[in-house]
Amino acid sequence: MSPEESLAEVRGQIDAACAQAGRAPGSVNLLAVSKLQPAEAVRRLYAAGQRHFGENYAQELRDKAAALADLPGLVWHAIGPLQANKAKYVAKLAAYFHALDRVEIAAELSRRRAGEPLRCFVEVNVAGESSKSGVAPEAVEPLAEKVRALPNLALVGLMAMPPLEAEAEASRPHFRAVASLARRLGLAELSLGSTHDFAVAIEEGATWVRVGTALFGSRP
Ligand SMILES: *Cc1c(COP(=O)(O)O)cnc(C)c1O
Repeated sequence: MSPEESLAEVRGQIDAACAQAGRAPGSVNLLAVSKLQPAEAVRRLYAAGQRHFGENYAQELRDKAAALADLPGLVWHAIGPLQANKAKYVAKLAAYFHALDRVEIAAELSRRRAGEPLRCFVEVNVAGESSKSGVAPEAVEPLAEKVRALPNLALVGLMAMPPLEAEAEASRPHFRAVASLARRLGLAELSLGSTHDFAVAIEEGATWVRVGTALFGSRP
């Protein structure tokens, strides 16, 4: 499939999941995860109408943003865990950060940010996996309070990446728990679901789905 066809297919699946869940089409935003894909692949999807792109690695974000600086309206999202010494790239180039899990990083991002606040999601480690980033569910509220006090960040929602299971259904209880926590904290946005489970995420309230493989093919 061409990137254009993949994009149409994924958009169709998003619309179908919205219909299934009784949600308005357009209530779910598609974030194209372009990590490890060449800038030319981003350019092609942009030409097909895609505007939001997600990168995991701060230096890759820096390089790709420079290579694609001629594309008006392209919006960058940083979605991977961040080290303090790389925060400057995210603060400068991204509109959204999906993987906030430490107050030190939040403070550094706020300190480096100029202009519009950086929209942030706190990443929740839903299954208590030691190998994964994100904060435990009970630590989300105290972190959220500290983030809300920072001038140049806007806390918009929660993000999670459940353990990869063969069955997409296995993600449902995790998505549901994160949606419930977000409601309790008054957060409107939910960054949930990737290629294998985004339809389930939409049924559980995702407002952003982060899709890589289904759009670009497998990563090199
Ligand atoms: C790579 C990645 C994705 C995309 O995963 P696919 O399975 O390729 O859709 C989504 N979210 C995060 C945080 C990622 O690192």
